[in-house]
Amino acid sequence: MVILNKMDLFHALFDAFRQHTDLVYFDGRDNPYRFFFKDKFVTVFIGNIHSTSRTPDEYRIQCPGDLPEKLRNRQREDKVLVLGFSADVNTFSAWDPDRLLDRKSRVQRFSLYTRLSRMQEAAAQGLSTHTDTDGQIVIMFRPDLIGLYVENQAALHRDTDRALQRIARDYKQFLARPIAVKRQRIQVTSTAYPRNPRFRQAVLEAYSYRCAMCGIQLGLVDAAHIVPHAHLQGHDVVSNGLALCSLHHRSFDTGLLYVRDDYSIHLNSSRVKHLKKMGRADGLSRYEEQLRSELLLPANDEWFPAPDNLSLGSELRGVELA
Ligand SMILES: [Zn+2]
Repeated sequence: MVILNKMDLFHALFDAFRQHTDLVYFDGRDNPYRFFFKDKFVTVFIGNIHSTSRTPDEYRIQCPGDLPEKLRNRQREDKVLVLGFSADVNTFSAWDPDRLLDRKSRVQRFSLYTRLSRMQEAAAQGLSTHTDTDGQIVIMFRPDLIGLYVENQAALHRDTDRALQRIARDYKQFLARPIAVKRQRIQVTSTAYPRNPRFRQAVLEAYSYRCAMCGIQLGLVDAAHIVPHAHLQGHDVVSNGLALCSLHHRSFDTGLLYVRDDYSIHLNSSRVKHLKKMGRADGLSRYEEQLRSELLLPANDEWFPAPDNLSLGSELRGVELA
């Protein structure tokens, strides 16, 4: 069984959010984390799902006793998510946050329970549910369906059958992979934000259509935002842009690579460790060999990336988190 540490859980969560939308960034705080996700802030507690050893099917996460209080002290407009992640099944379990927010007891820590069989069902179908002994409805979902869960959270925990029917109806018009829930077909999608063509053009010209990280042209280069577009400071200006090839654009956006304010390029060791643990680090040595140590910069220094943008960009991708 893969045991995930704090950073692994952070990466698993961020990856799931990114599968759903480009409009996402990390807003600091330590488990519970805070993210901007699509159109709102979410405060998320995430735990590692492991076996209780009592019955083969019973799994759980453990929560610190002060979690309910921490969640009550969140920023008021934030939506709250209480999640567990199992790397073995590649599935999230979600508990009803309102039950935790109401919790008054002062234990040192407590457990929230889920079921292996239901997690496996979710891995295969997309979604699954389990009703706990105290009547709490736990929702299990595949990482790519985290957006669907967030958007239908309250209904899923309280009026599950009706919520599932509504999901099947509301998501029908989108193009995506259909999933089966109780013999119904559900379709979901991810959102892309509208791109500003002028920003793209200005960045590509500043960098002579070359990837700033590897120098490749070949029509494979696009304009990346340093401070993500979803953030208030994610402006469409050249000093907030980098021309990057597809490989390095993705590397930058997922925080695998980051750039310090002296324009040096670095591999994010916490991200690498996580990928190794998940068995997804093949090709790393070849990838590292081809990495430049510094950015290729534009001819004109007024187009250089602004150092403040570079450090904020790293923060918002969780790079500085140790
Ligand atoms: Zn490149």
